[in-house]
Amino acid sequence: MAQDHFKNDCYVLFKGTLWSRKEKWKKIPLASLPEFLNRIPDRGLETGLIAVWLQPVLLGEDDIPRAHWMIVDVESSEDHDNIAKNLEAGRRLLMRLCEMRLEENLVIMLSGRGLRFVWPYMVPQGLKRGFLSWLKNEPEIDAAPQLHKSFFRVVGYRGHRNQGELKNVHIHVLPSIHDIWFLDRQEYLGMVKGQVPAAYHRENLIPILPRSYAPKCWVDLFEGLQARERLKDSIFVPKYAFPEKRSTRKVWPQINLYLDKVGISKMEVGAEDHRVFRLSKCPACERQGGYLTQSGRLKCFHTSCDAGQFNEENRISGLSPAKWVPNFEGCDEEVFIEERSGNKMSIADVRNRIAEAVRSKEDALIVTDPGTGKTYEVLKQLVPLCES
Ligand SMILES: [Zn+2]
Repeated sequence: MAQDHFKNDCYVLFKGTLWSRKEKWKKIPLASLPEFLNRIPDRGLETGLIAVWLQPVLLGEDDIPRAHWMIVDVESSEDHDNIAKNLEAGRRLLMRLCEMRLEENLVIMLSGRGLRFVWPYMVPQGLKRGFLSWLKNEPEIDAAPQLHKSFFRVVGYRGHRNQGELKNVHIHVLPSIHDIWFLDRQEYLGMVKGQVPAAYHRENLIPILPRSYAPKCWVDLFEGLQARERLKDSIFVPKYAFPEKRSTRKVWPQINLYLDKVGISKMEVGAEDHRVFRLSKCPACERQGGYLTQSGRLKCFHTSCDAGQFNEENRISGLSPAKWVPNFEGCDEEVFIEERSGNKMSIADVRNRIAEAVRSKEDALIVTDPGTGKTYEVLKQLVPLCES
């Protein structure tokens, strides 16, 4: 069975105390983990001399990661010291999980202050990116332990200095995940308080230890997120500057003439790529706050001004000269393509990026300015590939 194969191939790192040095960590085959944990002396578990700390990353014999255990810390992103807020965060996350039918085999643990959501599932390395994307996208999940492969104190009592700051609490498991809907801070504190028999820790361990790969509902989710991440990578929008001479040759004499006529003076500010011309008065709203970009676009800091309106990218879109210089002549389309922020690239660079995108084996969406040679460059790259 696939499951057995998986258990024999995977190892998990164990340590008994917060302070255990790396040489003391134990690499245990997943298949013999329950047996190994059963050999921990009762007294050690009960007093906190030993707790069960496990790494969420499953390794191969060669120490290379094979899979990720679905264990996550859940807490309020605003105030993770606040038990009531952490419970609220847990309820929000559980609600979303239930809506997506992802709550099967979920176990909710109370860690002493926050919550821990655990499934007895492993996510294969091939879906790691989708898994991490999920962790990072859920505001209630603290992704750091998974990102840093930190050990989780899975079960144990914390009233021993081996476990860090002394706390008279143990890790408690909710008998049903739905107990969380009405749980308040007081009850939470009552549940985690004090020592418990070793058998309690052991019983809690078995249902959460990884026993199979994540089922299809999870795989679908991670695959979707992973595809989105890949797509994010492959979307690039190279920007290049249209030659300035062409765009400004006819524009500036008309602008200057008009500004002189209405008595508005301009002053050049900024440097290099970010040069603009501040105007003594905005020609559109007659207030201070207007300025011109290098291509003669009028922008204004007043949101009530026509030149101060925002575009979809939340930037001031401004008015092309034809819209603010009366009787403006010469409407070469390219002149009025809005300048964009960010890196501007030469045509050669844009074509190199296109070529890279085509040659890479990933899907790519190529968005760039008209006339940069998308079709030309794509064909130039594709034809030899097809021939070979
Ligand atoms: Zn204005």
